[in-house]
Amino acid sequence: MLELLDLHFLGEEQLFCSYLLDLDDGLALVDPGPRTTLTTLESSLAELGVAVADLRHLLITHIHFDHAGACGALVAANPRLRVHVSERGAPHLIRPERLERSARRLYGDMFDVLWGTVEPVPAENIELAGDRVAGLDCFAAPGHAVHHVCFMNDEGTLFAGDTVGVRWPPSQYVLPATPPPDVDLEAWHASLDEIERRTPSALALPHFGLVMEPAEHLRVFRRRLMLWAEIVRRGASVREFVDEVSLDIDEEAAKFSELTDLLRHSYLGLKRYWEAVDRGA
Ligand SMILES: [Zn+2]
Repeated sequence: MLELLDLHFLGEEQLFCSYLLDLDDGLALVDPGPRTTLTTLESSLAELGVAVADLRHLLITHIHFDHAGACGALVAANPRLRVHVSERGAPHLIRPERLERSARRLYGDMFDVLWGTVEPVPAENIELAGDRVAGLDCFAAPGHAVHHVCFMNDEGTLFAGDTVGVRWPPSQYVLPATPPPDVDLEAWHASLDEIERRTPSALALPHFGLVMEPAEHLRVFRRRLMLWAEIVRRGASVREFVDEVSLDIDEEAAKFSELTDLLRHSYLGLKRYWEAVDRGA
C-alpha cells in the first residue's frame, strides 16, 4: 500500500506531500513534512483510519524542515516511532539548533510562518539508515544535501526526496531545488547515475506526487540542473538568474516557485557551490 498524503502546505493543493507505506513490520511515513502541516497530516491519516500512535517508522530522505520538521512532534506523540535517517543527518534531528539558525538566516521573518517550532528527536528513537531500511533499499544520494538518501521499494518506486527536482502537477515543468548550504553538483550527477542504474518504475516526489515516466524526468532534470548551474557560473546576478530561468517556466510552476522562494534560494545555493569550487574546497 502506498498512499499520498497532501499536506496542503500554505493552504495550497499539490505543493508538499508525505507518503504512507504499509510495510512488513508496520506503517511508515516517508518525509512527514514540516511542523506547520502536522494537523493536516494527522487528519489525512485519520481519513485512512490511521492514528499517529499506529505508525512505526519515519523514513527521512533529508533533514530540511519541509521534509523532517514534524519528526520531533511525532515522536513526542508516539515514543515508539523509529526515525530512519542518514548518519550525517541524524545529529541535526537530535540537536536542531544549528540547522534552525542557518535556516532563519535564509528565511528571515518567514521562518515561523513556514516551519513553526522545531522539536528535537530523542537520540534513542534514531536509526541510522543502512542499505536496507524497514524492508526498503536505501542508498546515499548527495547533491541537494550532503546527507540525502533515497529509498526504493520492491515495486521500484523511488522515494526521491529532492534529488530529482520538484514538479507541481498539473504542471509538467521540472525545477531543480539547489538551496544553500551544501549543493554539490559532482556528487549530484553521481547520485543521478545511481538512480538511473537502479531503473525505478516511478519517482515519488515530496514536491509533488508520482512521476510515471522516470527516465524522461531524469533526463530533463539533469539538463536543467546543468543549465541553471551554468547561468550562475557565468556570473549572473540573482535578478538576471531569475529572469533567465523564468523565461520558459509555466504559470503553475512559477506560482509555487515564488511561494517557496525557490529561484532565489537556488541561485544562492549554486553561487555558494561555485565559490567553494574556486576556493578549491
Ligand atoms: Zn531539501
